[in-house]
Amino acid sequence: MKIFRKIIDQQNYPSNLKRTNVKIGLVPTMGFLHEGHLSLIDTAREQADKIIVSVFVNPIQFGEKEDYKEYPRNEKEDLKLLEEKNVDAVFMPEVNEMYLKDFRTHCHVAELSKKYCGKSRPAHFEGVTTVVLKLFNITQPDIAVFGEKDYQQYIIIKKMTEDLNLPIKIIPSPTIREKDGLAMSSRNIYLNTEQRKEATVIYESLIAAKELVKKGKYSVSFLKRKMKEMIDSKKHTKIDYIEFVNPETLRKIKKVEQPARILLAVWVGKARLIDNMEIKP
Ligand code: AMP
Repeated sequence: MKIFRKIIDQQNYPSNLKRTNVKIGLVPTMGFLHEGHLSLIDTAREQADKIIVSVFVNPIQFGEKEDYKEYPRNEKEDLKLLEEKNVDAVFMPEVNEMYLKDFRTHCHVAELSKKYCGKSRPAHFEGVTTVVLKLFNITQPDIAVFGEKDYQQYIIIKKMTEDLNLPIKIIPSPTIREKDGLAMSSRNIYLNTEQRKEATVIYESLIAAKELVKKGKYSVSFLKRKMKEMIDSKKHTKIDYIEFVNPETLRKIKKVEQPARILLAVWVGKARLIDNMEIKP
């Protein structure tokens, strides 16, 4: 497994491979890898010959008061897991390699970046699209895989790729969950035992809404109220938002008349956790 810390070295790798016509798959991550991340590698492998995983905690996608400094990191363990997964190359740059002192340019996907998670994290998606565009330019992939766990992020990156005519296929990969339903996330480590137990209510509320839809309850205000009741009944939870949206445009819907997506963000203690689920009438 090759480990690249310098942009120039990582950039040379695909340039050399392209001459032999192999398909390159990129899996961008912020490290502290779990089974959710590793499942993206499996998805990538279905459509690519060489897999590059990037591990980079991207400072510009964190707000000033957010958890950039305390975000969990474990380079040694990440490299071990990636080696076991037979990844071909890991791109692991330092912050000052990715952002020179006079860094000025940002990529912004209008409208989509300002709602839902973008509302409570105003610079977040601009930071994400900027780093992903840089990673695309550095690794030159044919395909790139993103988790449905971060559904809004997946849609925004898909839009950026379309709008800027990037020759890259964006592939979604399903959310991997703990046994009790909690979506795997590097941030779950912030939860204490009691909060960890309560955090399952996020998944349970999504399942409850899905069941109600199956029974013919299509009113979004009713469904939201039910989810809110469940989540608010816990001691350590605070809802950031719950929205029912069109799965492509992310526009809000009032009634579940077509396939839709429930998106939500909930604070559990000091962890802001997100999740989502597909629903069909
Ligand atoms: P992160 O390291 O949190 O930035 O995530 C890197 C990639 O892994 C993103 O595409 C995420 O959507 C994806 N991911 C994170 N958690 C999960 C999960 N539980 N299941 C599937 N994909 C995930």
